[in-house]
Amino acid sequence: MQHAYRPEVAQAVQRYRHFIQEKIDHREELRRTSRPRSDRFHAWRQRQMVRTTSQLGFAKAHGIVHPLAAFELSKGCSVGCWFCGVSAPRLGDLFAYNDHNRGLWRDICAIWREEVGESAGQAFLYWATDPMDNPDYEKFCCDFHELSGAFPQTTTALPLRDVGRTRRLLQLSEERGCLLNRFSLLTLKILQRVHEEFSAEEMAFVELVLQIRKETESKAVAGRALERALKSGQAVETSTIACVSGFLVNMVEGSIKLISPCPASAEHPLGYRIYAQGSFTTAEEFRSQLLKMLASLAISVGPDDPVALRPGLDWAVSEKGLTLSSPYLLHHFPGLPEPALQRLGSLLAGGGQTASSLALQLDADLPTTFWLLNQMLKVGALEEG
Ligand code: SF4
Repeated sequence: MQHAYRPEVAQAVQRYRHFIQEKIDHREELRRTSRPRSDRFHAWRQRQMVRTTSQLGFAKAHGIVHPLAAFELSKGCSVGCWFCGVSAPRLGDLFAYNDHNRGLWRDICAIWREEVGESAGQAFLYWATDPMDNPDYEKFCCDFHELSGAFPQTTTALPLRDVGRTRRLLQLSEERGCLLNRFSLLTLKILQRVHEEFSAEEMAFVELVLQIRKETESKAVAGRALERALKSGQAVETSTIACVSGFLVNMVEGSIKLISPCPASAEHPLGYRIYAQGSFTTAEEFRSQLLKMLASLAISVGPDDPVALRPGLDWAVSEKGLTLSSPYLLHHFPGLPEPALQRLGSLLAGGGQTASSLALQLDADLPTTFWLLNQMLKVGALEEG
């Protein structure tokens, strides 16, 4: 992509802007090119991207890459950030790199690669955890790289706990082709120390996420930041720090969940929705849970499938067809006479229908009705899960 440069802007600033634009382009490329092998998974992830735009707005939703998985290597987190968007509990057990766990982990990495295909590397090894809490984090990363195809990106709020270790991790990460890591910084003092400890070259591919209580807003109102805002009685626009449209796996408790980002709410306080969940103790159980969840994902609307509008959408009929709208996005669905579209909107909003029971009540062309329902599914306008 060509970028326009204004001659009055200093060269260093131009280069910096170019660098930022390259990162944005890379993020966009990841969103577009991560294509899981399963057609069901791919179609589901694509519609979660449209849904998040509809729920969060273009600016916020476009920053979400929708990686395919997050693997947690501990239970909880030692940092205890005041704003933690996923309300991480206190640090509990760690997934130690012993013989049993190493074998289980390597088998799971291999299965993940087999079932998801070339995009399996679009995953990372933390969530409501800090990677540096696990002393064997780097070993797990190396296994993941070897078996799933990519060295996972790291975000840590503990870059100074052991500066030598952080420096070695940055080197390892660069050697193995990981393009970007992030430090989450909680105080100005930590920010200053990071600049003292690490050189500009070392920090070139490390993003600094400033989460300094008084000086910066929390990254998103979700989790603990949401609890705090609600306690203070402020009116807040909720958001999310969740980014995965795929699987959240905790290796300590052997849990697997299918999740996707949404604005935090009383129903989904952590800023993501859980579509399915299960547990495993062996790698083959992990595989069967994964396959079961993938098989449950709709790829089209069949006659017996329940159909209802996703909560938060309004509907209206005009010359443009049936319009489904959120605060951020409109979708028009033309193709049927106005009375049939009125009935379609009303039945979808009321819920409790299958596709065939709804279609039969419209008294309209059946193929067009099913085509419209499938178009709605495609843009995440129908309730799922
Ligand atoms: S934001 Fe990250 S580092 Fe902070 S408590 Fe939550 S999981 Fe831990």
